[in-house]
Amino acid sequence: MNQSKSHIVILPSVGISHLIPFVEFAKRLVSQHNNFHVTCIIPTNGPPPQIAKAIVEALPTTIDAIFLPPVSFDDLVANPLAPLTLTVSRSLSSIRNVLESLLSKTHVAAFLTNFFGIDSLDVVKELNIPSYIFFPSPATVLSLFLHLPKLDESLSSEIRYLPETMKIPGCIPIPAEDFPGGGTFQDRKGDSFKRFLHIGKRISSVEGIIVNSFTDMESGVIIALQDGAGANNPPVYPTGPLVQTGSSSEEDRSGCLRWLDNQPLGSVLYVSFGSGGTLSRAQLCELALGLEMSEQKFLWVVRRPNDESPSAAYLSDKSQFDPSDVLPSGFLERTEGQGLVVTSWVPQTQILSHGAIGGFLTHCGWNSTLECVVFGVPQIVWPLFAEQKMNALILVEDKKVALRPKANENGFVEREEIAKVVKELMEGEEGKRLGQRMGDLKEAAARALSKDGSSTASLSELASKWENVEA
Ligand code: UDP
Repeated sequence: MNQSKSHIVILPSVGISHLIPFVEFAKRLVSQHNNFHVTCIIPTNGPPPQIAKAIVEALPTTIDAIFLPPVSFDDLVANPLAPLTLTVSRSLSSIRNVLESLLSKTHVAAFLTNFFGIDSLDVVKELNIPSYIFFPSPATVLSLFLHLPKLDESLSSEIRYLPETMKIPGCIPIPAEDFPGGGTFQDRKGDSFKRFLHIGKRISSVEGIIVNSFTDMESGVIIALQDGAGANNPPVYPTGPLVQTGSSSEEDRSGCLRWLDNQPLGSVLYVSFGSGGTLSRAQLCELALGLEMSEQKFLWVVRRPNDESPSAAYLSDKSQFDPSDVLPSGFLERTEGQGLVVTSWVPQTQILSHGAIGGFLTHCGWNSTLECVVFGVPQIVWPLFAEQKMNALILVEDKKVALRPKANENGFVEREEIAKVVKELMEGEEGKRLGQRMGDLKEAAARALSKDGSSTASLSELASKWENVEA
C-alpha cells in the first residue's frame, strides 16, 4: 500500500450488478487521478462467485479487494431478498475490522457505499471517515428516495390509493404502481417501505452522493438535485455512464461471440434479464414462441423459470441446466438457424458492442440500460422488479429509445404481441427512429465522459476534495 496516495474505501452490497459499477468508478478514479489507492470491501453470503473473483483478478494494482467472511441467512429462508438487502448489516463487525486495520496504516479520505450498505455508515461515523453514497441506479430513483421522508409526512393515505402520478422536481410523472418494489413498496406500514424510508433519511446525512448517470440522460432531475430543489440533499455528482470495461467474465464459454461474427450487421436481437432475473415457465415458453413467430434472429440468455427456482436471483455458479427442459418442445430444433440459446454467464458488453446486434430485449436493470446507451442499442423493455419499472418509464416515455410490449389483464405477454414488438424494433420505421435517438444518446454519453465532459468534471471535483482531506 502506497501511503503517499489518498486512500478511498468502497463497499458495494452483495450481488454482481452492484460490484460492477463500483469497480468501474474506482477504475476511472485511479486511471484519471494518479494520487489514489482504492480498497474494495466485498461482503459475501457464501463462497464468492467465479464472476466476482474474475473481476477482482483483473483489477489494476492501485485497487485491492478484500472478500469479507460469509454471513448466514438460515434464520430468514422465507425472505429470498435478505442476502441482497441485509448482508452488509450482518457484516458490520468484519467491516469495522478491515477499516480499523487500514486506519492503523494509512489515512482514509472517503468511504463509499450504496443504499443496501447504509447501516455501515454508523461504523464509518464512529471512525471519523467522511462518507459518501454511490448510487448505482438512476438519479430519478435517487430523487424519489430523497423525497420519501417529505412524501411520507404529507400523505394521509397509502401511496397505492393515490389516484395521481407522483411529481418530483425535474422528473417525469411517476405512477405509484411503477415505484420500486411494486405493491410491497406501496404499503407504508410494511417492512419494505420502512426500509426505503430509513434509506431516504440516512442518505441525506452523507457528504455527497455519486450517481451512475449523466446530465443528458436525466437532465431535469439532475439539475433539480444539484439545485437542492426541495430535497435538502447533499451535493450530487453524476459520474456515469460507468459500464463494465475489459473482460470481467471468463472467456466466451457459450461461443456466442463466435456465433455473432457470422450474423449480418444489426440483425440480431439480444435477449437477457440480467444477473438473476427470469420469468415463469409459462411466460418463458410464450416468449420462445413469440421470438420464433417474429422470424428475427436472436441471442437469448435463458435462466431457470422463477416458479421453479425462486432463489435463482444473483446467479450462482451452479446455475447450468439443459434449456430444452424448460423451453417448448421442438423449439430449439425449429429455431436452429434463427437463434442461439445459452444458459451460462455471457460477456454482455462485448455482445452489445458487436456489430451484429440490432436491439436488446431487457429487464432494464440500470447497468444493462447504460450499456445499451454506451453502445447505442435500442431496447424492448420488460421490467421485472426493483426500480426497473421506473427505468422503463424513463426509456419509453422520456428518452423514447425503447418499446414496451403490452401485457394482457393477467399481466401475461402473449406471443403475437412479442412478435409484433420484436419485428417493429428490428425492421419497422419506429425501430429506426428509436435507433437514431439511441445514437444521439450514445454521443451524449461519450461527451459526458470526454476530457471536458460533465461526468469527468464531477469526478475531478470529488478527487480534488478527497486529495485535500487532511491526514
Ligand atoms: N451481465 C453479464 N453477463 C450475463 C448477465 C449479466 O455480463 O450473463 C452483466 C451485465 O452486463 C450488467 C450486469 O451483469 O453489467 C447486470 O446488471 P443490471 O443492473 O442490468 O441487472 P441486475 O442483474 O441488477 O438485475
